[in-house]
Amino acid sequence: MAKVIQHRQKCIGCGTCAAVCPQYWKMEEDGKSTLKGGKEAETGVFEVEVDDADCNKEAASACPVQVIEVK
Ligand code: SF4
Repeated sequence: MAKVIQHRQKCIGCGTCAAVCPQYWKMEEDGKSTLKGGKEAETGVFEVEVDDADCNKEAASACPVQVIEVK
């Protein structure tokens, strides 16, 4: 199991996560990305548990403002 976390308030909407990992990430009309299936663990912080981190590790390392974590 892995946990994917997004600090969404700090997302600058570059679109990289949705490009490298579209099965988990999509861009929204507010200009920021959303972690698909994510639940808001605290204000502005979304989390989802996954069996395999898959491309989320790539998304985390590619995010220019480092708002994606994989644990
Ligand atoms: S890569 Fe980071 S800054 Fe870019 S859209 Fe995704 S979460 Fe936001």
